[in-house]
Amino acid sequence: MELGEIYDRKNNTTKPKISFEVFPPKDGDVSGLFEQVRILKRYNPVFISLTYGAGGSTRGLSLDILRYFLDLELNVMPHFTCVNTTKELIEHYIVQIENMGIENILALRGDLVDDAKVFDFKYANELVEFIKEKTTLSIGVAGYPEGHIESPTLQKDIENLKRKVDAGASAIFTQLFFDNEKFYNYTELVRKAGINLPIIPGIMPIRNIKQLEKMTSLARIEIPKNLKNDLEKFPDDIKKIGTEFAINQCKDLIESDVCGLHFFTLNKSKQISQILDSLL
Ligand code: FAD
Repeated sequence: MELGEIYDRKNNTTKPKISFEVFPPKDGDVSGLFEQVRILKRYNPVFISLTYGAGGSTRGLSLDILRYFLDLELNVMPHFTCVNTTKELIEHYIVQIENMGIENILALRGDLVDDAKVFDFKYANELVEFIKEKTTLSIGVAGYPEGHIESPTLQKDIENLKRKVDAGASAIFTQLFFDNEKFYNYTELVRKAGINLPIIPGIMPIRNIKQLEKMTSLARIEIPKNLKNDLEKFPDDIKKIGTEFAINQCKDLIESDVCGLHFFTLNKSKQISQILDSLL
């Protein structure tokens, strides 16, 4: 099912649509990932999204993983980045996934890494335009409630988001955040910019302090004061605090009528299951 149809309010039940993000394991051993995804399948996700390694480092493995998910009768949304690659390689990949029967793709620029030399496309809006021209894939794009790290202001970043929307995107998937007010403010600004696409909040339950610090500093994401205090005061209860925080965060988002919740699972199902069991 395509993104537009998934998030179409007319087809909606009252519950938000649940989706999960996973990544190809670094060591190539997919058995653990498959086991976790089989568990998460119980929650009837609208799709599973699969991240794309920087510069296409996991390309072959990604295709195998996507085939497995399709065999499990799961809808999928592969991520795809356009840094450090060529138009020809991009076309080859997107046509390949379309031929596999995949309907959706998350089109990203990717992070700029030191050895990223080949740039046929400088920004994600150019990739969106190209995918639209070459395939019938339905396209998701990234949004940043606290502004993208390279962007001087949130407003400027939203102007650039508009370029991706005008190029043919169908839904916006956000970066993780912990302060819902930032998401609500972002949604308001995006709407004011004339963008009416579904905006799906990205939820990352906290499970590990080092990982949290790395992610929040790389992407400049604020951790609310009381959450920070709790994490510092009770270092042995990180996962419990993370789970409770995510449950409350999601409850608030559901009350504000979000159309979906996209979970960054980090390839682990237990904490996500605990959260969903208390929500659904
Ligand atoms: P863009 O939309 O191109 O934006 C990049 C920066 O350039 C922004 O600051 C923007 O304001 C600015 N900009 C955009 N267009 C223009 C323009 N035309 N002129 C001037 N400035 C412009 N990375 C991976 O490597 N693999 C993944 O699987 C992956 N999955 C992700 C999933 C989600 C939900 C999110 C939110 C991010 C993900 N990322 C992933 C990270 C993403 O690749 C980085 O955040 C990257 O730095 C920006 O990608 P983008 O598509 O948002 O870029």
